[in-house]
Amino acid sequence: MRLSRYLLPTLKELPSDADTVSARLMLRAGMIRKVASGLYEWLPFGLRVLRKVERIVREEMDRVGGLEVWLPVVQPKSLWEESGRWGAYGREMMRLKDRKDTEFCLAPTAEEVITDLVRREVRSYRELPLLLYQFGTKFRDEVRPRFGVMRAREFYMKDAYSFHADEASAESTYKMVLEAYTRIFTRCGLKFRPVEADTGAIGGNFSHEFMVLAETGEETIASCAACGYAANVERAESLPLPAESGDALPPEEVSTPGAGSVEAVAKLLNAPKEKFIKTVFYVADGQPVVALVRGDLELNEHKLQRVLGAKVMFKAGNDVYRQVAGCEPGFAGPVQLKATLVADTSVMGVVNGISGANKTDVHLRHINPGRDFNPERVADIRMVKEKDPCPKCKSALSFFKGIEVGHAFKLGTKYSVAMNAGFLGEKGVKTPFVMGCYGIGVSRVVAAAIEQSNDAEGIRWSGGLAPFDVMVLPLSVEEPRLMEATERLEKELTAAGLEVLVDDRDQRAGVKFKDADLLGIPWRVTVGEKKLALGHVEIKRRGAGESMDVALDRATAILVSERGKPAAD
Ligand code: ATP
Ligand code: MG
Repeated sequence: MRLSRYLLPTLKELPSDADTVSARLMLRAGMIRKVASGLYEWLPFGLRVLRKVERIVREEMDRVGGLEVWLPVVQPKSLWEESGRWGAYGREMMRLKDRKDTEFCLAPTAEEVITDLVRREVRSYRELPLLLYQFGTKFRDEVRPRFGVMRAREFYMKDAYSFHADEASAESTYKMVLEAYTRIFTRCGLKFRPVEADTGAIGGNFSHEFMVLAETGEETIASCAACGYAANVERAESLPLPAESGDALPPEEVSTPGAGSVEAVAKLLNAPKEKFIKTVFYVADGQPVVALVRGDLELNEHKLQRVLGAKVMFKAGNDVYRQVAGCEPGFAGPVQLKATLVADTSVMGVVNGISGANKTDVHLRHINPGRDFNPERVADIRMVKEKDPCPKCKSALSFFKGIEVGHAFKLGTKYSVAMNAGFLGEKGVKTPFVMGCYGIGVSRVVAAAIEQSNDAEGIRWSGGLAPFDVMVLPLSVEEPRLMEATERLEKELTAAGLEVLVDDRDQRAGVKFKDADLLGIPWRVTVGEKKLALGHVEIKRRGAGESMDVALDRATAILVSERGKPAAD
């Protein structure tokens, strides 16, 4: 490929609205351009990388028996109503109408469509298990599109769905896909970890995320160096805390004018935050619910939603506090509150605690669980903290940041039951499919790879994602001898199966070197007059300090032998 004939608009300036290294570099290297918030164009150089990811994913999905399909982006409302998700998905789902006023959505995912396909086409247990996958555009109207293509509204996903006669078969495919994912991300050259994850809106009973380790990652992972436990903090379990000791004192009201936060009341009453019982109102599937957690700890909404089994849950507005507790938020408490109480395990060990009195500007002290209030549910609904004991082995947990690039769910029969999708078992009885689903954010992988592998000069492609293997850079395009050598290299390297980009632009050497570093192609061959006069060219690994002079005749053989080797750090 000749750069003079290529569309590769590199930028010298830092794009002002790019908020991560990868977004900046993808824009600067002419890989993408932004059309509108969360909507991007992929230019040839960027698309080459996307296709590399796609190819690796396809090969590994095929290797575990996946069958590729292609499903529509526009999906009928009726299917989403069958699963109950038309309402549950919320505003992330883009809804539209056709000319007959029939309602549709733009696919944020495809469980409904694929379950419908399989319920129509698969009859018997003999046709199971089945692993179907596709590559396609997904649309999610994200609240905050950001980080370039990492959190876009329109993005490219590989989504796979498996159908089984029983749990054991579902589990074995799930394991197989996790192994395929491990091969995929390894081949992409990523440093990553599979972690236990929350099941979120898709639901189901078991899930893993694949996290690319990067400081700028949006996800926090709690991990244990001792036993290898790793989980998204949305899910990571907290162990019950030791109960406090002491005699229960009679409750009493204290005046706390204007002090509606744990910090403010703690200061006013000179009490530690551990004595507080934070009282937070939610609306879960239309019903008010009150969550309690110890004042020094954070509530975990993901855990709360899972404990409640709620499809839709959000923080309640001030009106709900007024209606249920008769006071402003900040002054609500569990004592004599007529609402469903869900307490974190930490709350039950508090002795002589403090909470709102359900009267504005008043708190209660010396309240004791069991005597003064009795939660309907006691469960683990708090966030783990760094250094908390590991739920498996009790060593201290440490935190790290990650970018979620893949996700696997064991769905059970959630969709097949809701959508009446089943097969005839050995005894001729209709049984719902047991399902799994498995996504990879193909476009996000490209950004994550750059986020993980770059330096001050630009991108440093590693693994199988490099858009080209070699860049050939003649120092002058006017010099016929240099161009002859360049052409010869281009032919030889291409014939040897390497992908070659020739910078044949009539540009100053300095500009070409800067662009070469920005583009991050693993090897650069510089063809210059002085060295060529000695029969030499200069080859340099992207990111390496040193270059080497090699005979023009040997350059191809050397580059072929270096192919696929990891970059020197
Ligand atoms: P997140 O927590 O980052 O929003 P998710 O849990 O909503 O992700 P899934 O529904 O599991 O994501 O989608 C499968 C994969 O699609 C994710 O692992 C991620 O790599 C990718 N993905 C999800 N949302 C986006 C987005 N807005 N832009 C780009 N890729 C995305
Ligand atoms: Mg999401």
